[in-house]
Amino acid sequence: MANQYHAINLSQGFPDFPADEKLTDIVAKIAKQNIHQYLPFSGYPPLLEKIAALTLGSYRRLVDPNSEILITAGATQGIFTTIQALVHPNDEVIILDPSYDCYVTPIILVHAKPVRIPLNSDFTPDWNAIAAAMNSKTKMIIINNPHNPSGKIWSENDFLQLEKLLEFFPNVLILSDEVYEYIAFGNRHISIHSRENLKKRSIVISSFGKTFHITGWKIGYAIAPAVLMQELKKVHQFLVFSVNSIAQVAIAEYLDAVAPSALYSFYEQKRNDFRSLLATSRFVLLPCEGTYFQVASYAAITNENDLDFTKRLIVDYGVAAIPLSAFYENKNDRKLIRFCFAKKGETLENAAEKLSLI
Ligand code: PMP
Repeated sequence: MANQYHAINLSQGFPDFPADEKLTDIVAKIAKQNIHQYLPFSGYPPLLEKIAALTLGSYRRLVDPNSEILITAGATQGIFTTIQALVHPNDEVIILDPSYDCYVTPIILVHAKPVRIPLNSDFTPDWNAIAAAMNSKTKMIIINNPHNPSGKIWSENDFLQLEKLLEFFPNVLILSDEVYEYIAFGNRHISIHSRENLKKRSIVISSFGKTFHITGWKIGYAIAPAVLMQELKKVHQFLVFSVNSIAQVAIAEYLDAVAPSALYSFYEQKRNDFRSLLATSRFVLLPCEGTYFQVASYAAITNENDLDFTKRLIVDYGVAAIPLSAFYENKNDRKLIRFCFAKKGETLENAAEKLSLI
């Protein structure tokens, strides 16, 4: 609809500004080199080494590049591969709603059951509901931190609660979707990588697409203990074999030129700008602790359901957003919509001008 009505598109999570010139220069340079054939199937060895160094630098976790890292065609493939490899028919997998849309289908495809538990209204985990849903069939819990769509970041207490709960379920695995790990404001993002008791049973998913504003490249990685990783590799071999060589070689070189840990300040500025642009509008902005998404309540504007409201926003005001009900199993309508602020200043200003007319 955004295209059909020529609306400013703040819906899907992708930047509208160019990729870093340092990166595009590297691509131009290496395109002439002999890097166009298959790479080893778990990844380009120098890139695996750099990811191990990045993980050590960011989280003080020592990982073995040969046995604990897998380069994937984006986080999406890492998530699919993890579920395909480790979840079996009739298993149950806990998902916390609102949730990103690439978790449920892979679970259904392995004939397992997605068990969707709503987060509390402030998007913190509802530990009583999660504990009540766990049973002997529970194979995995999927967590997403920083969280899409809410922008919420897990606290130390959330992790303590998870650790306490999982003591009773020694065989349950964690799939930790941390694609926004480097877009965390104020509260530092706590990663599964830094939880001694959890990392042994976890698969952590990262995305270079998100970290380097290159979502179209479709490149990310999974980190897991070797015993789990060897199962992921069995699926990966027949799903993709190896991820495209140019992206892997380019990113290996680019990682020497940038510090992902500095990324947050770029987006923090965008978040602050977008929030001040909307300060006088009738939208009520929820806290945004991380990611490049801003959730807003339109309850003061209308009683319409969120799907109808977002459609009207496109047609009448020329701005596209996502209704939060899309992220819930029961299509829960909380009069909330999600804007993506990974956009040029000019795009955000134009959108805010239109949104302030409502
Ligand atoms: N997980 C979450 C929470 C996301 O928001 C996204 C992208 N929108 C992905 C996974 C997929 O990332 P990728 O593009 O690297 O496949």
